Amino acid sequence: SRRAAGNGYRCFTAGMNAALVRRINIEAALHEAVANAEFRVCYQPIVRLSDNRPAGGEALVRWDSASLGRVRPDEFIEAAENNGTIVDIGRTVLQRATAACARWRAEIDPALRISVNVSPQQFLVPDFVATVTRALAAAGLPASALEIEVTETVLLHESATVNQTLTKLSNLGVRLALDDFGTGYACLSYLYDHPFHTLKIDKTFVQDSMTNATARKLVQASLRMAQELGLDVVAEGVETEEQRAFLRDLGCDYGQGFLFARPLPATDFPGDAGAGAVA
Ligand code: C2E
Ligand code: CA
Ligand code: CA
Ligand code: CA
Repeated sequence: SRRAAGNGYRCFTAGMNAALVRRINIEAALHEAVANAEFRVCYQPIVRLSDNRPAGGEALVRWDSASLGRVRPDEFIEAAENNGTIVDIGRTVLQRATAACARWRAEIDPALRISVNVSPQQFLVPDFVATVTRALAAAGLPASALEIEVTETVLLHESATVNQTLTKLSNLGVRLALDDFGTGYACLSYLYDHPFHTLKIDKTFVQDSMTNATARKLVQASLRMAQELGLDVVAEGVETEEQRAFLRDLGCDYGQGFLFARPLPATDFPGDAGAGAVA
């Protein structure tokens, strides 16, 4: 009836307004959050599947907002990209992450590496390479200890700036990882065009490959291709023993996921392989 349709419309509008208001609130609060340093960084171990020892960690930003409470990265990264605050947030993450890695190398294992997610907007700022160089120097970390993770969206910009920046970073010795592999498109040509060192297979494929033959074949094919190209492979979202065994039997180098450890504060990074890494 008209009446029911009317109610449905009002509910839908109310729901849309709530989502919109949340987004506007997030974008507004981000500016203050930068000024008030409301961000923390957690680190999730990336584990060598052959011996279960951490080879490094991925820095994952956390935001406890004074006005909004805990906001998940899935909710605020895009907003931060839209309003430009990602440039400040990303710089802070890079500085903290390189410093944390330098401490782990002194205290735990001198070969540990740090992986940092970088948004396209950060690449388009002209001094990004200088920001990276300064962060490495301040931490006393060699470039080879840093891996920068990008998704295909950064390559969609296909601008001279992005290409030059990736090449400059690679020439400095910084490693480059293609994140969320399998979720975008034209990913194969990107691997030929840019100096990547690492492929991160998206967690949906890792998880689906236990029940879905097509997902399993995609993981196998990605691994074979990466091995041919001389790339390291990290399987994301490893949650079960079964997934770990499947990946290790295929010759996958590294795994990351709740099976090994959740994202942790820097000071909780596992120093002891057996006990610490496998939580
Ligand atoms: P991502 O780069 O793909 O990071 C991996 C995400 O998967 C993280 O979510 C991590 O907590 C989650 N994860 C790890 N292991 C498992 C598992 O076994 N199962 C499941 N279901 N999930 C797992 P998180 O921390 O919520 O981050 C979400 C996304 O936000 C990241 O996805 C990344 O795209 C973005 N992000 C996080 N920190 C930063 C940052 O500092 N800068 C930028 N630009 N983006 C960031
Ligand atoms: Ca990532
Ligand atoms: Ca990922
Ligand atoms: Ca992701």
